[in-house]
Order: sequence, then structure tokens, then C-alpha cells
Amino acid sequence: MTLELSSRHEWVRKSELRGMSVECERVGGVNLAQGVCDLAIPDRVTQAAVDAIESGNNSYSRHDGTAALRNAIAEKYRRRAGIEADPETSVVVSAGATGALYCACLALLEPGDEVILFEPYYSYHESTLKATEAVPVFLPTEAPDWTFSFDDLEAVVTDRTRAIIVNTPGNPSGKVWSMDEMELVAKFAKQYNLFVFTDEIYEHFIFDSMPHISMASLPGMWERTITISGLSKTFSITGWRIGYAVCDPKWADAIGNFSDLVYVCAPTPLQIGAAAGIVDLGDEYFDKLAAKYRKKREMLCGTLDDVGLTPCVPQGAYYVLADVTSLPGQNSKDRAMYLLDKTGVASVPGESFFKGKAGDTIARFCFAKEDDVIEDACRRLQVLSAGKERAAG
Ligand code: PLP
Repeated sequence: MTLELSSRHEWVRKSELRGMSVECERVGGVNLAQGVCDLAIPDRVTQAAVDAIESGNNSYSRHDGTAALRNAIAEKYRRRAGIEADPETSVVVSAGATGALYCACLALLEPGDEVILFEPYYSYHESTLKATEAVPVFLPTEAPDWTFSFDDLEAVVTDRTRAIIVNTPGNPSGKVWSMDEMELVAKFAKQYNLFVFTDEIYEHFIFDSMPHISMASLPGMWERTITISGLSKTFSITGWRIGYAVCDPKWADAIGNFSDLVYVCAPTPLQIGAAAGIVDLGDEYFDKLAAKYRKKREMLCGTLDDVGLTPCVPQGAYYVLADVTSLPGQNSKDRAMYLLDKTGVASVPGESFFKGKAGDTIARFCFAKEDDVIEDACRRLQVLSAGKERAAG
């Protein structure tokens, strides 16, 4: 008998991103494909982590995180979201929001359980569900509002539905969920007795003075909501792998046990750096982030509009979906490749975020880059408007 991969390996697809990034590097282009923020880490965060390493804080922490980080997270939720989470029993620090969601799925879903995922979706959500043998059930939404009704939710619910994923602000749509939408999902989750997994990793990236609403703060939702977030984006530390789940202790205990099994703990000195950042930088830092990224959004969306790649201007997160119908190609991969060849700007083909054909005319651009990188990308994109003028002339 020959050795073979497990049947599970098929369930986790390699992301389109990698291929695009390799090609971008080959042509010396500007990579707006990857959702990695290139911005500087706050000094306080770096220094506290370096001090922790130098002073010998290099062993395992408690499996669910250092006391300082759990306390900082719980206090922040109390202050900003009105959620009372006991740092001893309701906060599980894990290897990024990705690790926290994976452990939550392992702890709370049975094989074959259906989980509602709004389309466009973040591909790790789909893959995490599949890897844990849950079944993603897609609920399509459309630009520009990416909204839905109670009927839409009821159209996809079955007696196997166990959970629903809410990602606000959303990747890739940039949608910030309104209170009406949150209340609709809350009502639905209660009526059909579902868990709600909320991915709030972009909670501090909201541009148009909309509030960030945590599902767990809605009446009766604490006991069925698993709030997932992390510091990757907020402190530009995607490689540090610091994220967490906040939820009722009866779920947190099992989520923590899976996190212990898979990761043992998140990196201890980096947890210390992240805790120092949350406590010492305070709300002023979080509030300033939005203004900084708003400017980047304006730069990129303005140029996309100019060159005929109409953007669906995001309310939050740091991605923009643009209509690339004007570029030649049969599908989004052809069009993103054409764009890279012609301008040297890499984007993610829309098909990475949709099940059906809706992604074929869309590309996603990331603006979590230093201003000069965005300016360079905008200059390169202008090549398209030269072509447009020639065509018009
Ligand atoms: N959730 C969403 C919606 C994301 O877009 C990303 C990164 O792109 C993550 C989670 C990853 O978070 P972390 O680095 O904490 O695992």
C-alpha cells in the first residue's frame, strides 16, 4: 500500500495570495495583495517585549495567557464595549485570532454542523470550518451595502445549523455592521439556538464615525457569542501571533484546553509587549489609528476611481474591493494578472472571496501600507488612465 495524504488535506486550500505575492516579487511590483501591515510597531510595544526577553521572561505562560494580558483585554472590553468578562475565566489568549477561532471551532462544533458564512468571506474562515469538519453554508451579499434580511438568514438555516460567523469590520468588504443588522442576527441566533462567532480583528479600523458594535454586548447574547480578536492589526504585529477569544467560562475552558494542545501558549514575551501596549497607549492610540488609515483609504480609492476601477469604498478594515470589469480577462485571476503585468500593482483576485461567479469582476487591494508605498501604487495605476485616454481619443 502506498503512503497517502489524509482526506483532510483537501479541505484546506492554499491561498491565492501566495502565488500573487511571488509573481509580484518577480516583476518588482507593489504588493497590495497581502493583508500584512507594513506600518511601524508602537515603541512601547516593542520595548516591553524586548525588555521581557532580556529579563528572562521566555518560558511558557499559563496556557490561556499571562495575567497582565488577560487583565488588559478584559478591562478594555469593559471600558469600550460594556462587556464584563472575568480575566480569570472568560479570556483565552491564543496564537492569533486565527488560532482562537480554530480552537473555538474544535471546542464547540460537531463534525457535520453547518455554520453560516456571509459572502464575500475571509478564506481562513471557510478553511477553519472545513478543517474542523464543520460545513460552511454561504449567504451571498452584494455591493455596495453587503446587507441581508431575516428572510435571507432563514433561507439558509437547517436543523444542522449550529453557528453563524460575523466579521465586523469585514475582510474583504470593509463592511461595518449596523445595530439593525446586529440585532437581526441576535434575534435569529436566539430563535434557532446558534452560537455567534464574531471576528472583530479590525475593530479599531472604522472610518466614518460609525460605532464598532460587539455582538456580545447585545441583550442575551453574551452566553452564545464567542468574541474573537487580536493585536496583529492594531499594533502591526502580524508575525507575533497574539489573539484571543472572549466568552462565557463554560466555553472558554474548552477553547483554552484546545489552545493548550495545539499551541501550548502564545509567545510569552510578545504577550508582555502586547499587554503593555494596551494598558499604556490607551484609547488615544486606538482612536488615532482610524484617522491614519482613513487617509490611506482616500488616496487609494481616489486613484482607483480615476483609472476606471470603481471602488466599493470600505467603511472599515483596510481593504478595498474594486470593479475590474474594464480589464481584459475571463475571470478575476486573469484580470489581476493583467493588472500586475501592466502596472506592477498586485491585488487579490475576487474569486478568493466568493463561491460563485460574483468575484470574477472584482479585485481586492490592501491599504495597510506606508503612504509612500500607496503613492507609488497610485502612480503605477495611472498607466491605466493613459490607456483610457488613448482609447477615448
Ligand atoms: N481575521 C480576519 C478577518 C483577517 O483578515 C485576518 C488577517 O488578515 C485575521 C483574522 C488574522 O488575524 P491573526 O493575525 O490575529 O491570526
